[in-house]
Amino acid sequence: MRTLLDLVLPSACAGCGAAGVGWCADCAAVLTHGPVRVQPRTEPGVPCWALTKYAGPGRRAVLSAKEHGRRDLAEPLGMALSTALALLRAEGRPLVLIPAPSRSVAARRRGGDPMVRTTHAAARWLPDCRVVPMLRVWWGVRDSVGLTAAQRRHNLRGRIVVARSRCGGAMIPENAEVVLVDDVLTTGATASESVRVLAGIGVPVCAVVVTCAA
Ligand SMILES: [Zn+2]
Repeated sequence: MRTLLDLVLPSACAGCGAAGVGWCADCAAVLTHGPVRVQPRTEPGVPCWALTKYAGPGRRAVLSAKEHGRRDLAEPLGMALSTALALLRAEGRPLVLIPAPSRSVAARRRGGDPMVRTTHAAARWLPDCRVVPMLRVWWGVRDSVGLTAAQRRHNLRGRIVVARSRCGGAMIPENAEVVLVDDVLTTGATASESVRVLAGIGVPVCAVVVTCAA
């Protein structure tokens, strides 16, 4: 019974390990100090913002959501993301959030794409906002861990595509602000390639907002 309950209510904070809550107030505060402007090595050509550094509670939360199946973190991470987006967005324009793609095999193995879940959670807190998960990565992309910035760019070049079944063109209002969102920004290769691909189909991204920047 204890194990079943643990699945429903995680008994430790994913950020600091504090007992009793899945995500504590102190760790939540770390994600709402920002957003801070960041400059990845591979510049996507639009402003990049991060809620926090890729360290401490932010890093642990992202890894828990991604690698350890902590689905409950989508809500607090989404809420933190929405706080930043509310500050950054232009007034009076619809907001469209496009999650950066993760390799689908990896996402399936983890039981769904955690960033898509977090983005939906964020959108629920934002008026006139929709999520359009229209980007995919082709098979065969190597895991980017341990690659240099140049290798990552090469690895992704031409591999990020607009998933036809989810083609979001019709779902993006003409005056919308389009923001690419992701959990981690490291070299900027994924963000840059995503922005490039979207520009190629006439979807201009105006900013990249991530949970953590390395
Ligand atoms: Zn905590």
